[in-house]
Amino acid sequence: MSASRVLIIGAGFGGIAAAIELQKHGFRDITILDAAPDLGGTWFHNDYPGAACDVPAHLYSFSFAQRRDWARLCPTQADILGYLHEVARDFGIDRLVLTGAKVTACRFSDAECRWSVETAGGETYEAEAVVVATGQLHQPAYPRIEGIEAFGGHSFHSAEWDGSYDLTGKRVAVLGTGASSVQFVPEIAPQVERLTVFQRTGNWFMPRKNLPYPKLVRWAIEHVPGLQAYRRRFVYQYGETLTRAIRNPRTLGRLVQLRSILFMRRQLTDPELRAKVWPDYTFGCKRVLFSSYFLPALQRENVELVTEPVTRLVPEGVVSGDGTLHAVDCVIWGTGFKTNDFMFPMEITGSDGRDLAEAWAQGAHAHLGICVPGFPSLFVMYGPNTNTSGGSIITYLEAQAGYIRRALQHVREQGAGAIAVRPEVEAASDAAVQARFAGTAWTQCDSWYRNESGRIIANWPGYMSEYVAATSRLDPAEYTLLPAPERVGEPA
Ligand code: NAP
Repeated sequence: MSASRVLIIGAGFGGIAAAIELQKHGFRDITILDAAPDLGGTWFHNDYPGAACDVPAHLYSFSFAQRRDWARLCPTQADILGYLHEVARDFGIDRLVLTGAKVTACRFSDAECRWSVETAGGETYEAEAVVVATGQLHQPAYPRIEGIEAFGGHSFHSAEWDGSYDLTGKRVAVLGTGASSVQFVPEIAPQVERLTVFQRTGNWFMPRKNLPYPKLVRWAIEHVPGLQAYRRRFVYQYGETLTRAIRNPRTLGRLVQLRSILFMRRQLTDPELRAKVWPDYTFGCKRVLFSSYFLPALQRENVELVTEPVTRLVPEGVVSGDGTLHAVDCVIWGTGFKTNDFMFPMEITGSDGRDLAEAWAQGAHAHLGICVPGFPSLFVMYGPNTNTSGGSIITYLEAQAGYIRRALQHVREQGAGAIAVRPEVEAASDAAVQARFAGTAWTQCDSWYRNESGRIIANWPGYMSEYVAATSRLDPAEYTLLPAPERVGEPA
């Protein structure tokens, strides 16, 4: 087997970033497996009406593959998917992707110092390093509600949008009011006969119209030297400011919240609806939602917001806590993802038969969100504590790709077989990450960033710039090298 054999699981932004970085640095034997029929990851799956990114395109794109011809500030799902295809093609990554390959298990052999990766289709791949780039947001979550199977109408999840089902003239229920719902609700509201939106928790909103750029602006972005780079730096700083507000809820947080309050008050003219929608938790604790269209959509004649909890489904529709039956033809689950599950139920077995699910039983943790002790040359992208509430995940993914490349270069330069983070290093960095949440808005409500015990396992507690700095070099002292197979038994 080639000395640089790397297997990447997931052909979304993370997997593609890793492949580009590794290939640029001479790693030639790379395979990317993806369960889906095409590359794109979350942007392949999430094609619901109105799907777009609420982060401006020039930051939600690779620093090394900037485009100046985006049609609007925030890219649509189709734009992003097209961009990712283009980048994959330009860097020769598309030919490394094997689609329809759902990975079920990764096992490390101590004797051979290599990973064996199995797919649902019965294929087995051997690799010297595995990059798990499946992300935090890829397994749709369905709430545990009595009677789901009893419902007689149609239903689907926002991440598995059923484009073949015509919503025209239908009575539709939407459960959940997160970042996905606020994008598709305004799109489908004019199409359906009745829309009943079930909200469990209100959200803080910020404006986002995202109209196509006027011609002059497009021209300027394309032709004025330095303008795109300036805009990128500006949006970067805007993201860092949002993080600063979340980190400082009593000071800057209050100021930014004021912006949200003024916007929401202007949008919500009906006091009754305003009271129903209004969030009762600290600004920034949950994801702030950017939409100028969701709150007006709730005020349409044919839309109703229900804040009573959903108690059960019956063949005719949804029953809420006050006993009301909301008869519907279709239920759309806008209920998010199994974010605490990361790559599970994939089985990951490391050195000495260690099971990753057991190692993470109290909550996922990894050094810089990338390396887990006892799992040599296994690297996680968009892993624990690397989500961002203010900024672009692409910045994190690029940083991770660079760090993984440095780790594998170190293995190669030292003639080693694999690399593993020292347990005490990971424990210390995990403790430092957790300690940094103290006093921040993230600790002040329940959200998908936390696990059942309340530990924040999704988010990075600091700024993008800090994460980039922390991953910009790899300290060999933080790692142990395992001997290459032919030198098993000798010290590395
Ligand atoms: P989400 O933010 O987790 O929202 C799920 C919604 O469903 C919430 O309103 C939640 O209420 C509700 N819910 C969940 N379980 C429920 C239950 N058992 N009963 C009643 N309500 C329930 O999911 P999402 O909207 O799919 O977004 C997930 C993440 O994807 C986002 O946070 C974001 O990171 C990413 N995303 C990004 C963009 C973008 O533009 N960049 C767009 C879409 C998604 P509670 O609030 O009470 O939990």
